[in-house]
Amino acid sequence: MTEIEDSVVAIDGFSSCGKSTLAKELARELGYRFIDSGAMYRACTLYFLDNNIDIDDIAAVTKALDNIHIEFQNIDGHNATILNGKNITSEIRSLRVANQVSEVATIKVVRQQMVKLQHAMGAQKRIVMDGRDIGSVVFPEAEHKFFITADVDVRVQRRHNELTTKGRNVTMQDVKENLEHRDHIDSTREESPLTQTPSHILIDNSYLTRAEQLMIALKHIKSKNKTLVA
Ligand code: C5P
Repeated sequence: MTEIEDSVVAIDGFSSCGKSTLAKELARELGYRFIDSGAMYRACTLYFLDNNIDIDDIAAVTKALDNIHIEFQNIDGHNATILNGKNITSEIRSLRVANQVSEVATIKVVRQQMVKLQHAMGAQKRIVMDGRDIGSVVFPEAEHKFFITADVDVRVQRRHNELTTKGRNVTMQDVKENLEHRDHIDSTREESPLTQTPSHILIDNSYLTRAEQLMIALKHIKSKNKTLVA
């Protein structure tokens, strides 16, 4: 394990560029908690879809948020997303949820509620959180911030492999349309758009292995940590 002072590590970037993979590996390496903030927006989306909540009706959305309880649990060594007591880890990866989640994530009251939860999860630091606005809005004071990107075709191929390996019946075209749609909404929305701040370290992992990407991030963390504790 790599010893560093208690910190928040923020990982932001485009859809399907390996943020969660890096976040999980960093969390393991540092002995920190991994928080997938995207899973929280996906969980809200699933709730709205299953309960026929019209996302244009802000009063209905606000009321529904009171009935949404999201937590993460370690189940058999995996980080499971739990919505109102039910394990929805697999369900929130469906295209049904993916095709709606970015619209849901533009809603101010939804973001306010998720950010409140994220702040509580990071109150004691020692977390690696990945998302779109973690280093810019949720934890602007995070000690370590990374912005991850990769060529769109590489991202499409990776996500397609991931989904088909899990038995999902999706075409490359479905995946590409979904990624481009989400990237566009996430980068242009009014509330907390995806932003690379000057304090984010940029990593383009199009041609990096997972191990190389992890090594680069750890190197930055260790060298910044020296200046933090000096
Ligand atoms: O990370 P993931 O791709 O699972 O996130 C799903 C969606 O949730 C993103 O496309 C984005 O619309 C939204 N999201 C967000 N802010 C975050 C994390 C995710 O708006 N911090």
